[in-house]
Amino acid sequence: MRNRAAYMVTPGKMEIRELPMPQAQPGEVVLKIEYVGVCGSDAHFFESGMRKGKAFDLPFILGHECAGTVTQVGAGVQNVAVGDRVCFEPQITCGVCPECRSGRYNLCKDVRFPSVPPYDGMLRDYAAIPAHLAFKLPDNVSSLEGALIEPLAVGLSAASRGDVTLGQDVVILGAGCIGLLTMMACKARGAGRVIVSDLFSKRLDKALELGADAVIDASTEDTMARVTELTEGRGADVVFETAGNSHTAAETSDLVRRGGVIVFVGNINGETPYRFMDLMYKEGEIRTIYRYHNNFPTAIRAVSTGRIDVKAIASHQFDFQNVQEAFDAALYQRQDVVKAVIKL
Ligand SMILES: [Zn+2]
Ligand SMILES: [Zn+2]
Repeated sequence: MRNRAAYMVTPGKMEIRELPMPQAQPGEVVLKIEYVGVCGSDAHFFESGMRKGKAFDLPFILGHECAGTVTQVGAGVQNVAVGDRVCFEPQITCGVCPECRSGRYNLCKDVRFPSVPPYDGMLRDYAAIPAHLAFKLPDNVSSLEGALIEPLAVGLSAASRGDVTLGQDVVILGAGCIGLLTMMACKARGAGRVIVSDLFSKRLDKALELGADAVIDASTEDTMARVTELTEGRGADVVFETAGNSHTAAETSDLVRRGGVIVFVGNINGETPYRFMDLMYKEGEIRTIYRYHNNFPTAIRAVSTGRIDVKAIASHQFDFQNVQEAFDAALYQRQDVVKAVIKL
C-alpha cells in the first residue's frame, strides 16, 4: 500500500510525495482518506507560506476537511470499526484545561489543528487520528458530503451563536462558502427571510440557487437601503459578517434592528472603525465565533435528514494528482469556486 501525500513545497507549489503507512496507536484509528475539501485557510497558507506573520516550515501538508473509511483501529477503540465511513473533526485538544472541561474545547489554547502549521494536514491517502474525533456517516451520507461536515459545522455554529429562530429576518454579508453554509443553517433553523449580499453576481446567483430569499449586489446597490426596504424599515434580527472585511464589518450596526444581534464569522484582520454609539442606541449585541464545538453529530444529522443539501456547495472536484490545479482554482477563481474538493 502506498501513502501518497500532497506537500506544499514552496508558497504556491504542490508536490506529491510518499509517506510511511501510519499505525493506529491505542485510542486511534487509521483512515483511508477519500475526499478533502480546500478551506479558505488552506488557500491562504498555500499562497502566503505565512502564519501569524511568520513563515512556517516547509514542506507542509494542508487540508483538514475530510472523510474516509476506517482501515485499522487501535487498542480500546469502541465508537468505530474497520470498514466504517467517517468524517474527522480536526480539533485535537488537550482535554484537561478549563475551556476543554467546560465543553468549549474550540477555545483550548493547546489545540493541534492538522493543516495549521506546524501540524501536518490530511491531504494524504492514510492518516491516524484520535478515534473520538471520527464520526460515523450514515449510509445515505456520502464521503464527499462527509468532507463538507467540517465547514458545515462552522455555518451551524454561526447560526447557533446568532440564536436564529423561526421567522426571523437574517442578513448575511458575503456569499463565499461559509456565508452560504451560514445561510443554509439559518434556513434550516426556520429563518423567515435570508438576505445575502456580495460584490460578485455569480456568487449571488449561487446564493439564490441554494435558497436565499433576496440578494443584494453590493457593487451596484446600497446595502443599507435595500435591507431597510426588504425588512419594512426595521433592519435584520440577526446580521452575519462572513466576508472577513472591515468595510462590511463597519456596516453591521446600520443593518441590525433594534435589539438585534450581530455575529462576526469571517476573519477580519487589521482594525475596523466602528460606530458603537449607533449600536448602543439600538441595544444591539455583538458576538463572535471561533470554529465550532460539539456539533458534528448535528451537522451529520442535518445532511442525512435532507435539511441541508451540503453537497450543493462542492462546486469543483479534482483528482488527487491535480491537487495543484485545485489550489490554483481556489485561489485564482474565487468568484466561481465555492468549494474545491479533492478526491483521493
Ligand atoms: Zn475549514
Ligand atoms: Zn484544552
